[in-house]
Amino acid sequence: MLGKLARITKAVELAEDQRQALNIIVENVCFELDVEVCSIYLADYDLKQFTLMATQGLNPKYIGQLKIEFNNGLVGLVGQREEPIHLHSANSHPAFHYVADILEDKLSAYLGVPIIHQRKVLGVLSIQQEDARQFEIDEETFLITLATQVSSVILNTENNAIIDDEQRNQLVRCINGTPASSGVVIGKAKVVFPSLNLSSISKRKTNDIPAEIKNLRKAVKRTHLQLEKMSNRMKGLVSDQERSLFEAYQQILGSAGIEQEVELEIKRGFWAPYALKRVIYSHLKAFQSMEDPYLQERALDIEDLANRVLGNLLRRESRRIKAQPNTILVTETISASMIAELPIENICAIVSLQGSATSHAAILAKALGIPSIMGLDPCQISRLEGKEIIIDAYNGQIFVSPNETLLSQYQQLINEEKQFSQELKNDQLSPNCTKDGVPISLMVNTSHPMDFEKAMQSGANGIGLYRTEIPFMHHQQFPSEQTQVNIYRNIIQGFDGMPVTIRTLDIGGDKQLPYFKIDEDNPFLGWRGVRVTLDHPEIFLVQLRAILKASFNNKNLKIAIPMIATVSELDDCIRLINQAFDEIEEETQHLKGTLFRPDIGIIIEVPSIVFQLKEIIRRVDFVSVGTNDLIQYLLAVDRNNLRLRGLYNHFQPAVLKILSSIIERCHDYQVDVQVCGEMASDPLAAIVLVGLGYRELSMNAGDISRVKRALSRFTSYEMERLSHSVLQYETVEKIKSELILAMEQKSLTGLIRAGR
Ligand code: PEP
Ligand code: MG
Repeated sequence: MLGKLARITKAVELAEDQRQALNIIVENVCFELDVEVCSIYLADYDLKQFTLMATQGLNPKYIGQLKIEFNNGLVGLVGQREEPIHLHSANSHPAFHYVADILEDKLSAYLGVPIIHQRKVLGVLSIQQEDARQFEIDEETFLITLATQVSSVILNTENNAIIDDEQRNQLVRCINGTPASSGVVIGKAKVVFPSLNLSSISKRKTNDIPAEIKNLRKAVKRTHLQLEKMSNRMKGLVSDQERSLFEAYQQILGSAGIEQEVELEIKRGFWAPYALKRVIYSHLKAFQSMEDPYLQERALDIEDLANRVLGNLLRRESRRIKAQPNTILVTETISASMIAELPIENICAIVSLQGSATSHAAILAKALGIPSIMGLDPCQISRLEGKEIIIDAYNGQIFVSPNETLLSQYQQLINEEKQFSQELKNDQLSPNCTKDGVPISLMVNTSHPMDFEKAMQSGANGIGLYRTEIPFMHHQQFPSEQTQVNIYRNIIQGFDGMPVTIRTLDIGGDKQLPYFKIDEDNPFLGWRGVRVTLDHPEIFLVQLRAILKASFNNKNLKIAIPMIATVSELDDCIRLINQAFDEIEEETQHLKGTLFRPDIGIIIEVPSIVFQLKEIIRRVDFVSVGTNDLIQYLLAVDRNNLRLRGLYNHFQPAVLKILSSIIERCHDYQVDVQVCGEMASDPLAAIVLVGLGYRELSMNAGDISRVKRALSRFTSYEMERLSHSVLQYETVEKIKSELILAMEQKSLTGLIRAGR
């Protein structure tokens, strides 16, 4: 069965559009299961009906024409029940919906399974047969399994159709993703860093055939060299027989056949990646139709090899990134270091298929004030190349090739936004406080020289979080003590006289150093933050010494330790900080009086520590709540997992309850407390935090003015009342709607959606 499924999925990947993909599915199901009819109906939620979109066996004239209400027929029943329906003789079932001349009269056996994506029924896949019989259990499970895979094909092809739809007068449709850094822009898409996987390559024409051929030849040559290197590296590590795989790859690649075939496709006008895909897929089809498992394995080898060539082809592309002003960068995946390499002055927005609002790339985009959408719904992003796009990063929507009406509506919103930002800028000189004058410290999170400039101009009361791992990422090896001193001194001096919190190295999870790879099955539950630095005192001490040296003459340094889960970890850290302090003090006798003991604190990210606050607080000067990780560990939701983006939410009742409990204890034990996770930068959440009693919030530079405006319109009592009210609610939806209402009543909607 697995082979049959793989054959169908692979065939579907080759489809140019949704119609073709669905046809391939119905034809292949009839063939593989030897049934007479297979049909696919897709749901239209606006009209509340299913439409027959593909069939083998029913009258084809009904494709696109037959509409069945959501509460009608067997199709409607499968959709309503959200489970398979299996009937011996369908036409005697009360829900059976008769349609003259669709050729269903004689069909008896029926099996319909829902096609579901993230709890939403997208359609129904059914098979039918003349004999009154039960389908085999294998057939049923096959269809259920296939339906789970068809859902992403449907989403993908639906979104591709939105991208390709050049008829600007059509209904306004958009592709959805997760809002990661707010803003609205109109620009032109530039697709970069595409996937190194053939399946995501779409058809594209070239007008420079010789250049594409040159690229191909270089990529093939590079692949040869890489294979040779790999084979040499494996010498002595694996048997000669296993090493012969590399020779086999070399032979396939060396057989002038494949390269020439790809060249021929390029000469037909296709860009090299698509030419490669066409050739490889036609070979794969031949291999996969063979039953011999050995030959099927060879198909995998060919695909793997082709992906390597593709990697080399596209790497050449990505190095050439040049962006015109107003470019919307579209990418499969993006990391903080990729952003650092971009011609940032011309990038007006970022859209990525992968990643989430709290991924570190999103955080950096926010810090730079670049609107961004992460976790875009599945689609072939290469189709977006060169298209005009509207990005609504408040709602996480992208509109491709918008019509004139939509363009002018959004242009209006953009103008309002500009005016609003100007107004917010004018607020900058007023103090950061609530309407009734309670001072709130608005601090800035920074990590990168690129966002430091913005941080300095943001009107912040200091640095609430400096993520030291980001500069570490931009080195080829661990930076020396002196290099680090220079980096930290820059930060501390930039905010002279204001508190500066430097967090010690927090690598692991989704933050990797190119020269210190941590490869784990569960990286977020693994060797992260302080767990790494305590295991490597030689790295930790160099960093601590550098931070202390950078702070000569400064009384406002605070050192924060990430990922503390136990009291003994904290004790070990304090011991090392004291050791570093004593060393520096001894080494710099001549500078007596210029070295001050820094405040020491922890970032509360691991829930276990919330239950040991009493013991922790006895040992530290401050605590900072890192909501990004605290939420992920409290709810057991990977902060970057797109499937769980609905669950990862700072308005989850449990999150508000833990935040309330933290602040209560911090007040009881009289210790300074701040919030430094992304939650603090959401004006809605900032109101709740201040209402709960937090008086120090740290956020990206770009968000300070919005949060400041929100806080200045509510009295501390109003915020307290609001937060106590939402603490009683059981769902995110109720909490959010009460907060949005409060914002609307204060005419602050411009802070939470596009426009003013
Ligand atoms: C946090 O976890 O909230 C935090 C500030 O740290 P980071 O986002 O760098 O993991
Ligand atoms: Mg964290």
